[in-house]
Amino acid sequence: MSDELTDLYQELILDHSRHPHNFRTIDDPSHMVDAHNPLCGDMLTLYLRIEEGRVVDASFEGRGCAISMASASMLTDQVKGCSLEEAADLFETMHHLLTGTGSPEPTDLGELGALAGVRHYPMRVKCATLSWHALKAALTEGEPQKVTTE
Ligand code: ZN
Repeated sequence: MSDELTDLYQELILDHSRHPHNFRTIDDPSHMVDAHNPLCGDMLTLYLRIEEGRVVDASFEGRGCAISMASASMLTDQVKGCSLEEAADLFETMHHLLTGTGSPEPTDLGELGALAGVRHYPMRVKCATLSWHALKAALTEGEPQKVTTE
């Protein structure tokens, strides 16, 4: 990846963190997961409204570093409209991308590819994966609706 593209991606992450999308609560959500990354101090709550096997609304609230906020912002954008299966696939893809296991081409993922750079910064990986673990917990029947990276 060229330096120019890397800069572009950083710009995208900063933009999402400054103006997070879907930064609100959902009235009467079907799923609500608290997520905490003690290493960095990121805390967020992910809200989902799932109807007839489809994510019809997604939002989050919280505070944390730019990476954690941008990741949650992009997640809520992407997961809206997904079937439960698509949402689970998205988690797998992003988990591989962010932890550097497997190698989906970041360019195939649109904006989400911007987060791929964190894999080079082990301290930042947990910031980026936090909201995705919350999504995973929401999608998994019987999972406690509280996740922590520790
Ligand atoms: Zn963080």
